[in-house]
Amino acid sequence: MVNSQDFAVVFVILTLFLATFSFTASNEGCYEPSTVGASISFDDIKNIDDWKTMMPLLDEYDVKATFYIDNYDHLDEDEIDFLLELQSTGHEIGAHGMSHQDYGIHLENGGTDMTYWLEEVEPGVRMMENDGFVITSFAYPRGVKSPSIDNVLLENFTALRGVNGYFEQTEPWLAECSDRAVYNARTLAKDSDNYGMIKYNMRSMSDDHQAMIFYGHGIGEGEKDVTLETLEELFIQAQKHDLDWITISEI
Ligand SMILES: [Zn+2]
Repeated sequence: MVNSQDFAVVFVILTLFLATFSFTASNEGCYEPSTVGASISFDDIKNIDDWKTMMPLLDEYDVKATFYIDNYDHLDEDEIDFLLELQSTGHEIGAHGMSHQDYGIHLENGGTDMTYWLEEVEPGVRMMENDGFVITSFAYPRGVKSPSIDNVLLENFTALRGVNGYFEQTEPWLAECSDRAVYNARTLAKDSDNYGMIKYNMRSMSDDHQAMIFYGHGIGEGEKDVTLETLEELFIQAQKHDLDWITISEI
């Protein structure tokens, strides 16, 4: 005789089995589903004053972001203190190249994957670590990358972030797996339907086992910028759908 408690247990097991099966069946080779959440990052030290301006808004909505730092040796003490303060309040600080040189140009100039790491990436990481930063992710300047440079950098980082477009062995901006930890990201640039797509996809994320990854630069009306009003709209939408904010290394 099957009592209702046994039936409930069987039902739960069956549901878990079906959920697991349907997930792995559509994600071959995916053993680590990504954390469900929204991940926002901001690039380039020339935007650091804009980041200061937007922090009250991020605090208001409890948004933890990732900030990618190029040209670390050009920062002054106040700017370094600001970034250390961000790190101490749960934001992630990541590396973005010593001189913001893109990987493609490095190869054209006779460089290799290994010299890209040794000359363009590692020196900045070491300087930042010496100042107290914990660097676990890297964003490719201009998004230029390949599977072979990913492999070299994955020896040294937990996660790598690119930009839009198709790249081999890279998770899309709606990421389902974190096995390889190399991600595309959708731009917050205002010259397309980006905000609409981001808001639309926030509706179904928890059902789809997805992390959503998007990135911006500065705050304002410039071509690559996003306004505070638009950011707030995105934060409200995420709140409405109970989405957690995760850093790139947390995906
Ligand atoms: Zn950049």
